[in-house]
Amino acid sequence: MTERIYLDWNATSPLRPEARAAMIAALDEVGNPSSVHREGRTARHLVEQARERVAALVRAEPRNVVFTSGGTEANMMALTPALETSGTRFDRLMVSSVEHASVRAGGGFPTHQVEAIPVTADGVVDIGALERRLNELQRQGLRPPLVSIMAANNETGVIQPIKAAAAIVHAAGGLLHVDAVQAVGRIPFDINESDADLMTVSAHKLGGPQGVGALIRRSAALHFAEPLLRGGGQERGARAGTENVAGIAGFGAAAACAMATMTADGERMRAMRDRLEAGLANGPTVVFGQNAERLPNTSLFAAHGLRAETALINLDLGGFAVSSGSACSSGKVTASHVLAAMGVPDKLSSGAIRLSIGPSTGESEINLFLEAWMKLLAGLSKRKRGLAA
Ligand code: PLP
Repeated sequence: MTERIYLDWNATSPLRPEARAAMIAALDEVGNPSSVHREGRTARHLVEQARERVAALVRAEPRNVVFTSGGTEANMMALTPALETSGTRFDRLMVSSVEHASVRAGGGFPTHQVEAIPVTADGVVDIGALERRLNELQRQGLRPPLVSIMAANNETGVIQPIKAAAAIVHAAGGLLHVDAVQAVGRIPFDINESDADLMTVSAHKLGGPQGVGALIRRSAALHFAEPLLRGGGQERGARAGTENVAGIAGFGAAAACAMATMTADGERMRAMRDRLEAGLANGPTVVFGQNAERLPNTSLFAAHGLRAETALINLDLGGFAVSSGSACSSGKVTASHVLAAMGVPDKLSSGAIRLSIGPSTGESEINLFLEAWMKLLAGLSKRKRGLAA
């Protein structure tokens, strides 16, 4: 069997050994965190310790962290008309046109109340357009919206100007939710510094388990009038249901590790990503969002004439796990809404391949990938010449 090279860390990252150990220890405990006996208190301690660790990673207050079943649920929970600071309901949601599907779905807002904010050709949210639209709403005497902008894009890695967006949204009286799933654990993100009102985090993008995440508030004054899951009073009434203790413990351990290693890991990944892109520059390959500030681990690129399906299958057979830039949740590659929003023609975007690396990705893996990519391109130009002959 060919040795596998995993270059798809934005889809999910390998479980950190520390997270695995914390999960196994938690699985051996019997208590329900809501029980008052000793077993229950032990389970409660694991949950609260994890809450502190996740909070510390983004400098939030632990009491403002609500554990969920992942990033999707946290996004769903945040995007509700019944998100209240002073009893007012939202009747409009604005989301950037490059958001993850779980944000674009609009949460609890009906479709006609969801508006898209455009991005530039580099994939950066058009802050000017956002400001003009918010001013227009104000002039028309309409209520300020809830706005959702991601911290970093899952396909391109492009980092969004969250602080600038927060200033504009707050000046208009709105609230800002930030899907920080791809950013947290890879680049520093401080909820107070960013001025985001709410943020979403997912454990499995930072070396924790799949199926656990959190919605984090900057201030406890913000509350959810109609929680998605009602019943027991878990998570201070924000999300009912017995906590996923082992998953949460793994999330906490992964968060603590990410906090300790983020700077050094970031430098290492950036060096590898730059090596990859320097190699790609030797062929007719276009890298998307390259002029914008990006996550250190992500590169999205395409070569004219090479379809993503063809490249993915060939690379998989050659031992490489990479992704197409576009969504393929059902195993079928569809056009990337991110590249469409950036104005990339379908013909080119249908070939987009995303490489997302991790701290353990080494030079040899990058070199082997480049070799395989160049071989694919050589095969393509041979076929083209054959057709022309
Ligand atoms: N938001 C972004 C930007 C993502 O990349 C993802 C996962 O790919 C999610 C949200 C969903 O997170 P989860 O897989 O934990 O539901």
